[in-house]
Amino acid sequence: HAKKRGRNRYYWFEHSMESELRFRSELESGIRRGIPAGEFVPYYEKQIDLATGEIVGFEMLARWNSPSLGLVSPDLFIPVAEEIGVIADLSESVIRQALLDARHWNPKLTLSVNISPVQLRDPWFAQKLLKLLVEANFPPNRLEIEITENSLHENIGLVRSMITSLKNQGIRVSLDDFGTGYSSLSQLRTLPFDRIKIDRSFITTLPDSKDSATIVQSIVALGEGLGLPITAEGVESEEVLHELRKFSGLKAQGYLYGMPETARTTAEELAQLDLLLERAEAVAATAP
Ligand code: C2E
Ligand code: MG
Ligand code: MG
Ligand code: MG
Repeated sequence: HAKKRGRNRYYWFEHSMESELRFRSELESGIRRGIPAGEFVPYYEKQIDLATGEIVGFEMLARWNSPSLGLVSPDLFIPVAEEIGVIADLSESVIRQALLDARHWNPKLTLSVNISPVQLRDPWFAQKLLKLLVEANFPPNRLEIEITENSLHENIGLVRSMITSLKNQGIRVSLDDFGTGYSSLSQLRTLPFDRIKIDRSFITTLPDSKDSATIVQSIVALGEGLGLPITAEGVESEEVLHELRKFSGLKAQGYLYGMPETARTTAEELAQLDLLLERAEAVAATAP
């Protein structure tokens, strides 16, 4: 009996490996097809100035509208797109759409986009991005690039020159998911970042964890000392907001302010707040 069960388990294992490989290869071909098909779309998460409670910008978060899988999270498709070498195309496609969407917003609102470590090491990246900005007629100083702390451990010289050339064009650069990666404090000094985004793991646990509170306090103090403004990511509750109000000058984002939304929903919401240009046309022009 034991033997039989062992055998079944063996078959099951083989079968699951096989289906995993099949899933992976379907994922890869789906991503390749989906980029030119326009299946990758921008969603937008609000960024709030805690001092005023006002919306000051949006972070674009890519989603994959897959015909077979439904709406897919970037945590699944970004690593695959990086591995199969299509991340630059994917990124270009969603950034191009985002720039066109954001052009309808009030010009005081900023747009943040996430950039993969692979793109950071492309010597043409800054130029490609500039081309997109010119094509969309979007002012570089409304754009903020987010680089995760974990992209900094390799080829730091290349990353530094990239950040510098982005900044020379007026684009701002922020350090994303700070506190979880491998960067050292000296990199904060030598890389010319414009902002630090505290990783949501510290923010979510702020009300119940003394350690998280200590870490958040330290990062805020670090930001003040280095002249770097701070964004708190992952604000989900009023309790967390209450804790964050103890600091001054913070920006915040998170599900407390709503889930990331499509361009259309975002435009409709901005229209209600009188933060949309040419209201009617913009809402109509924005793809669902
Ligand atoms: P991120 O840049 O740190 O983005 C924040 C992530 O946290 C988003 O997940 C967002 O939906 C989620 N989030 C925001 N507020 C809350 C909250 O209050 N609670 C919780 N539990 N989660 C919250 P998402 O959209 O799944 O994105 C995951 C990551 O994928 C992003 O992390 C970003 O690093 C990456 N990503 C997204 N779009 C792109 C892209 O176009 N290019 C690249 N290279 N990476 C992208
Ligand atoms: Mg981000
Ligand atoms: Mg983050
Ligand atoms: Mg993240």
